[in-house]
Amino acid sequence: MAKYIFITGGVISSLGKGITSASIGKILESRALRVSLMKFDPYINVDPGTMNPYQHGEVYVTEDGAETDLDLGHYERFTHAQTTKFNNVTTGQIYNAVISKERRGDYLGKTIQVIPHITAEIKARIKKVAEVSRAQIVLAEIGGTVGDIESLPFLEAARQLGLELGKDNVLYVHVTLVPFIKCAEEIKTKPTQHSVGTLREIGIQPDVLICRTEKALSNEIKEKISLFCNVQKEAVIEARDVASIYQIPLVFKEQVLDEIILSHFKLISRSSQLKEWEKDVVTKALNPKYKVCIALVGKYTTLQDAYKSIYEALVHAGIANDARVEVKKIDSEDIEKQGAQKVLAGVGGVLVPGGFGYRGIEGKIKAIKYAREKKIPFLGLCLGMQCAAIEFARNVCALKEANSTEFKPQTKYPVISLLAEQKKIKNLGGTMRLGVYPCKIKKKTLAARIYSKALIHERHRHRYEFNNKYKKYFEKKGMIFSGIYPKRNLVEIIELKEHPYFIAVQFHPEFKSKPDLCHPLFREFIRAALQLCKQF
Ligand code: GLN
Repeated sequence: MAKYIFITGGVISSLGKGITSASIGKILESRALRVSLMKFDPYINVDPGTMNPYQHGEVYVTEDGAETDLDLGHYERFTHAQTTKFNNVTTGQIYNAVISKERRGDYLGKTIQVIPHITAEIKARIKKVAEVSRAQIVLAEIGGTVGDIESLPFLEAARQLGLELGKDNVLYVHVTLVPFIKCAEEIKTKPTQHSVGTLREIGIQPDVLICRTEKALSNEIKEKISLFCNVQKEAVIEARDVASIYQIPLVFKEQVLDEIILSHFKLISRSSQLKEWEKDVVTKALNPKYKVCIALVGKYTTLQDAYKSIYEALVHAGIANDARVEVKKIDSEDIEKQGAQKVLAGVGGVLVPGGFGYRGIEGKIKAIKYAREKKIPFLGLCLGMQCAAIEFARNVCALKEANSTEFKPQTKYPVISLLAEQKKIKNLGGTMRLGVYPCKIKKKTLAARIYSKALIHERHRHRYEFNNKYKKYFEKKGMIFSGIYPKRNLVEIIELKEHPYFIAVQFHPEFKSKPDLCHPLFREFIRAALQLCKQF
């Protein structure tokens, strides 16, 4: 039978519950335990797929095509556990399921209530993850902050599961803030006491406290927190701000959190193996030899979370190339106003990420033209590939009005368009080409050199495709179609001859990059950018 760890958050949001969960997953995995990580999101949307990135941050896509919370990206980057549609559950999904059952008559005339029906559905989802993943330990992160109205049913379900399965099988971790008040020069434990107090009112006594803090926690402070919160002193874990998120598993390991969890569960396992992580990830991330600046030309550049997996993949590419990758976040509308030369001068590479809608597109196209003409390494992702095709059509193939039908439905040259069968689709939620698809790589191309493989599998999230009507003409003008989804003959990768690194893909490689195994498209992109910098 699986054991369960619930991770809750207190005092404020943005304490890094996702990274904490992923790091706990990592230290348990390093002791040869099979883990699975899941996230409960208390909002009523069925999934984040239709939400504005400014509201929600990046939508992370799983292999099986679920549109999920970005914390699942942390889970996959830190551990080997693969997430699926079962690993992200929202209030919307829970109510959807319960109401469908009620309509079918499954409840045999009963009054349907939050307790026990909604909580039963939540517990069933946790057990489902254990069953599907066959994990020994399931870590369930509960979104929001303790005290919020909407996360109450999830906390109640977590409490019930503890009662049902017994103390040896369930552990509660609470992530909390221990602020340092500058004018008083003091660390304050009261917010943590209150937040744990709220949890205890609900019936949950945390077993472990992860204390987010700027300063070291003294022995006395730990003792105080332990006494007031009724948590063993050694289970009061200090989580100080660190330079790299990939240090956190090591921080936990140092405070023997893995041992604390194992002894709570009465589990015995081999000793921890984190040496490689320390050597190949953390040490390299902290001590790079080179530096390179990459321009990310997007639309949601003021929000740190909107391109989360891309930023992380660039960190991984830095680790792989012994370099610090500095990201210059550029709002593509600034390029529309000021011109590419002014905004992009001096950067080592240009990356155009995915996105939706017309705003900012012309600026992205200008940035791509600049990278193509000045021979600056370019990586286009999803919408970035579509923009590269439009740029090529307009400026190389002289199809001046070329566009995507997403932006201009009646365009004269629809180089990016919907497939005929997609035109009938009315619903916006979950109706894109989603999840993993195979892609065949053409021999003797840049893509073949990057991947060293003939067949790859990458994750998708888009509706529009390259229009094959223009393929021959583009080829004649120097574009190479180096990756194809064979079953439906869809273009997956485009590249250019006579350019050091110009490659764009219809999929999202950023979702599969890991700190200890950088995605090759990012690794080679940074390698090319570094080479360009060395020439300066
Ligand atoms: N808007 C484009 C499409 O739907 C690209 C999507 C994306 O970049 N994820 O095809």
